[in-house]
Amino acid sequence: MSKEYETVIGLEVHVELATKTKIFCGCSTAFGGAPNTHTCPVCTGMPGSLPVLNKQVVEYAMAVGLATNCEITRHCKFDRKNYFYPDNPQNYQISQLYLPICRNGHVDIELGRVSVNQKNAGKEAGEIRHKQVRIHEIHMEEDAGKLIHDEWADESLVDYNRSGVPLIEIVSEPDMRSAEEVIAYLETLRQTIQYLGASDCKLQEGSMRADVNLSVREVGSTEFGTRTEMKNLNSFTSITHAIENERERQIDIIESGGKVVQETRRFDDAKGESYAMRSKEDAQDYRYFPDPDLIPVDISDEWIERVKAAQPEFRPAKIERYKEEYGIPDYDIELITQSKRMADIFEESVRLGADAKKVSNWLMVETMRLLKEKNMDADKLVFSPAHLAKLVELVDKKVINNNTAKEVFAQMFEDDTDPVKYVEEHGLKQENDSGAIKEICSAVIEANPKSVEDYKGGKEKAIGFLVGQVMKQAKGKADPGTVNEILKELLS
Ligand code: ADP
Ligand code: MG
Ligand code: ZN
Repeated sequence: MSKEYETVIGLEVHVELATKTKIFCGCSTAFGGAPNTHTCPVCTGMPGSLPVLNKQVVEYAMAVGLATNCEITRHCKFDRKNYFYPDNPQNYQISQLYLPICRNGHVDIELGRVSVNQKNAGKEAGEIRHKQVRIHEIHMEEDAGKLIHDEWADESLVDYNRSGVPLIEIVSEPDMRSAEEVIAYLETLRQTIQYLGASDCKLQEGSMRADVNLSVREVGSTEFGTRTEMKNLNSFTSITHAIENERERQIDIIESGGKVVQETRRFDDAKGESYAMRSKEDAQDYRYFPDPDLIPVDISDEWIERVKAAQPEFRPAKIERYKEEYGIPDYDIELITQSKRMADIFEESVRLGADAKKVSNWLMVETMRLLKEKNMDADKLVFSPAHLAKLVELVDKKVINNNTAKEVFAQMFEDDTDPVKYVEEHGLKQENDSGAIKEICSAVIEANPKSVEDYKGGKEKAIGFLVGQVMKQAKGKADPGTVNEILKELLS
């Protein structure tokens, strides 16, 4: 390869909003119901049925727009995007073409930051670079149904439960230049939207879907090359592979004197290659026109102010504040702030008097371990800050030792059990009566002359065995530190 090429990428990101009901009817948006049970005449496109806009959809779209520095369109409208496909019962999708609700925004992305979710967990952060990715627009639209092809030889089935689930589509400008920037952009969007509670943004489950538009051009060129659009990317890994693969494919075409064709391609992660799905259609192919069944949405200053006032402290601001306030390592801060739920638990537990580093350790070690084991997301954590603070206190006051605390925590993690009650009911209080512990220690010394001899002969480690024996006889309910001290005292 003689020339140097630059990759140019713009993303279209669909996010399923966390409303309870669909965008134009009262049907449930719950995932996983029996096929075609969350449906009604509206979301199955029955003639004569009329859509009614769900106000919460507008609020979530505004919230995301404000969080991404967009202008809010005061007078926005819905349009029909016409196409025939069996997952689309009306033969048009209600979307926004002419007056999308948000325009001209941007997000600041950080490159080189450690992501605790990913493979590189535990690594030091690199030098952090900042970049702005502009957002062209955000519009509201409805999702389509789901076709199921694979299990029957000669028929396809359709499930309309997802038909009419509210989506926002976030369209970026072609500002990204690498897979790393794309991932950072998606992470930023995901965190922002999760902090807002507007969606859980799961790529694997399809509540966040990214279409990657990619072109290449010679370094130094000021014009963009012809782009392709890739669909079916449901993990950061497959997005990264698809980008690398498509960049190479386009460069090969150009180098061998060919022309890149503007088309939609599907990336097959297993094979590591993409194939053409269809040539790219233009907006005019869809015969868009304003939907006559829906009145325009007029958004007042007052409504915008209300949505603004309800915005949470977002992650970048939280990270800076934590650095000032809590005196815990940056790595802890990165991890805790990845989920708003986790950050809320942290702040409240500390406010209730627990030591920040101790709370952070519970979140970083046991919480993360159990989340991973149960394949759960941090925003689904159920234990309350009050109970975590109590657990820390139980350990501080030596009512229970660390091992017992882990057992109690595992139960708290399940159902927010009150740790004080749990310790009481299960008789887990440790033996703090030093007389009783002394007795056990003496008995253990007597029963283990060999270890005693080793210890006295200078083998410091032999005491560990004796501590273990005492802990065993005390059924774990002793403080190992105290046991150690008593043994040393008796043996001196
Ligand atoms: P369409 O309306 O045909 O879908 P848009 O102009 O809305 O096209 O662009 C769709 C996406 O493609 C946007 O995210 C945009 O940033 C991106 N894009 C446009 N042109 C290019 C290009 N030459 N290379 C890479 N991405 C591009
Ligand atoms: Mg588009
Ligand atoms: Zn419905």
